[in-house]
Amino acid sequence: MSRTTYQSSWMNEELQLFRKTVRQFVQDEFVPHQALWREQHGPDPDAWTTSGKAGLLLPDVPEEYGGGGGTFAHETVVIEELAKAGVSFGSGVQSIVGHYILAFGTEEQKREWLPKMCSGELVAAIAMTEPGAGSDLAGVKTSARREGDEYIINGSKTFITNGRRANLVCVAVKTNPAAAGFHGMSLIVVETKRVSGYSTGSAFDKVGMNGLDTCEMFFSDVRVPVANLLGSEGKGFSQMVQQLPYERLSIGVSAVAMSEQAVAITAKYVKERIAFGKPLLDFQNTRFKLAECKTEVQIGRVFLDHCIERFIASQLDAVTAAMAKYWLTECQCRVVDVCVQLHGGYGYMAEYPIARMWTDSRVQRIYGGTNEIMKEMIGYSL
Ligand SMILES: Cc1cc2nc3c(=O)[nH]c(=O)nc-3n(C[C@H](O)[C@H](O)[C@H](O)COP(=O)(O)OP(=O)(O)OC[C@H]3O[C@@H](n4cnc5c(N)ncnc54)[C@H](O)[C@@H]3O)c2cc1C
Repeated sequence: MSRTTYQSSWMNEELQLFRKTVRQFVQDEFVPHQALWREQHGPDPDAWTTSGKAGLLLPDVPEEYGGGGGTFAHETVVIEELAKAGVSFGSGVQSIVGHYILAFGTEEQKREWLPKMCSGELVAAIAMTEPGAGSDLAGVKTSARREGDEYIINGSKTFITNGRRANLVCVAVKTNPAAAGFHGMSLIVVETKRVSGYSTGSAFDKVGMNGLDTCEMFFSDVRVPVANLLGSEGKGFSQMVQQLPYERLSIGVSAVAMSEQAVAITAKYVKERIAFGKPLLDFQNTRFKLAECKTEVQIGRVFLDHCIERFIASQLDAVTAAMAKYWLTECQCRVVDVCVQLHGGYGYMAEYPIARMWTDSRVQRIYGGTNEIMKEMIGYSL
């Protein structure tokens, strides 16, 4: 019986070449510095400009704004190559913010910010979560009061990726604090180097993904021009809902890429590791466990590719994106956990890639909207 190799429908020759370039760049420029990035809780500052030059930042933003001119398939390639190499780098967040600007920005805002984000001169963060408002975003307390041609922002945010390095922060605020629930919410861009009253906390010491810089942000009478409002005042929540599929699909992409890598390295390990005089793969339990993982990951890959195709065709709905985020990250955690078990004690040693995959994968079920919130969204559609 001949075996066919599965090919993602969105993959083509040009993307293969792009993948080769990205893989080489990640291996040469990022992989050797991972221990340092984890120790300092964030990438080296020049990682942003070098990756910008190499075309890793905003590859799916039109060329007229400095981007790669590609589609979400290009962004997928970047996310996959980072995940497979075990590199935590906030380029995904850069893309998320880039797409908020692309979707809701004025022509002037796009021309001002996007080229600098593509080059890595501007590093972006998206600040929604607050100490008292995570899943329940309606509880956002950070306010923006209008005074003449300025908004005055007060409040704090937490768990913000790229936080300390970011010099462009898209902040979810209440422009009308009296409005109930999701009403009165807006998105305002803060160029952190151009304002006073803005500060960040030190980097959080996380159990995984320590190469990512995650911190708190504080806004104390931060004045920004009204021209920094993104989209319409009071429409922030519906703008976020509109953009969330991009973020959720990106998380799904990294989940599948890491799961595929976990199965590949574990298959290699169990062929080499000897117990009771034979390779671990010769035990039926090893084969069955890895067979289950390989099958689940393949099912995930096919569903993910379906979502990517639909996204590229502007047809991915929020519920299907929630399904992808929920199921693919649960699958990732199941698979990686089995792979750790098959590595025995070595699977618990930080120097082994599978151990880092285990600590890095756990948060995927929490951020980007928890998996419980994803199930709520799917549930509402029944
Ligand atoms: C490493 C990391 C990076 C992050 N990056 C960012 C970022 O860049 N920007 C940003 O804005 N945020 C970011 N976050 C925040 C993240 O999105 C939130 O942590 C997440 O949305 C959950 O909010 P919470 O932590 O307040 O948990 P809570 O909302 O307090 O939830 C706690 C538990 O209760 C459950 N729960 C809550 N409500 C319901 C409900 N209605 N039904 C059932 N269960 C429910 C949750 O699912 C969860 O299990 C990041 C978080 C981490 C850990």
